[in-house]
Amino acid sequence: MPKAQETVLEINLKNIEQNYNYLKSKIKPDTGFMGVVKAYAYGSESLKIAEKLIALGANYLAIAYTNEALVLRDSGIKIPILVLHAQEVSFDKIIEKCLEPNLYSEKVLKSFIVKAEELGQKNYPIHLKFNTGLNRLGFNESEIPKIINILSKTDAVKVTSIFSHLAASEDLSEKEFTENQISKFKNIATQIDAKLDYKPFKHLANTSGILNYPNAHFDMVRSGIGIHGFGNSLAEDPNFKPIATLKTNISQIHYLEANESVGYNMAFTSNKKMKTATLPIGHADGIGRIYGNGKGIVSVRGKLAPIVGNICMDMIMIDISEIDCNEGDEVIIFGEKPTATQFAEGAGTISYELITGISQRVKRIIVDS
Ligand SMILES: *Cc1c(COP(=O)(O)O)cnc(C)c1O
Repeated sequence: MPKAQETVLEINLKNIEQNYNYLKSKIKPDTGFMGVVKAYAYGSESLKIAEKLIALGANYLAIAYTNEALVLRDSGIKIPILVLHAQEVSFDKIIEKCLEPNLYSEKVLKSFIVKAEELGQKNYPIHLKFNTGLNRLGFNESEIPKIINILSKTDAVKVTSIFSHLAASEDLSEKEFTENQISKFKNIATQIDAKLDYKPFKHLANTSGILNYPNAHFDMVRSGIGIHGFGNSLAEDPNFKPIATLKTNISQIHYLEANESVGYNMAFTSNKKMKTATLPIGHADGIGRIYGNGKGIVSVRGKLAPIVGNICMDMIMIDISEIDCNEGDEVIIFGEKPTATQFAEGAGTISYELITGISQRVKRIIVDS
């Protein structure tokens, strides 16, 4: 791959293959796989990622909001797509594009049924989400009789699956909480199966659920961060390959004397002779101000260089005093080293937030080798 001459997010599809195969090795051969490609496939490029996942054998895709699915459908993706956060305003679009809504409350279930009936649908595939402890979206267990009653009055929809979401599957000190979620979900599943005359499939595990809770795999698993290359732990990270590398290059090098300030509001002042490099990337590209003043550390010629002073909208300055490098040299913000997890940790956040925040100003480059 040629060295970066501007800021780019390089996305390596080969790495998805490794991540997918590793996750598949953790589940039974007949357990389904849902690739979660919400938020532009975790900040990368959803269409190419989706196509790769389908080629690898993924059974389902998921996105958060209806609009995110349009590029997939309009580019010819045919496999089922679950809309994790279906909203009433988008029900027409959902049906027009054959998307499958997550219906998580009495209000949205009833309103979707009205829409499906209006449009003459029969057995339209829907998914019901249950709250087992996250307290975010989902029916409570006590609502099952009500749900069954609502469903008994219509043939416009059919429950394709029921699911729930784990709150702390990556945190093994919360094992008891997670096991409780799993058993709650089993209970819900048993009641639903007893009351419907068909069997919706069941799914619960996200990436860390796949890795840490084999008893939570049910009929399908949902992975987002895993396919994008993160195992959410020091033990699992080496089994994954980050698919995205955020690269840029040095626009200019400055030689400072002691007691010179760098950047807006003089947030940094040198205490010795120093060398800094200015990079063409800033908070408008997704490297927020929380990474300023040494919290973010990037890599130049394999050596670590901390960010100096405040992050500007379009630029960042880094300390390269100890690094032998030139204007034009490539700089890795995150990728293999530092990883997005490491870069994010410096500012007290997580890979998910960092990678999904890389803005659309950054050119995406797809490689497959
Ligand atoms: C985002 C999301 C996932 C994917 O979680 P990862 O930890 O990235 O694997 C799975 N299920 C639901 C409901 C989600 O919102």
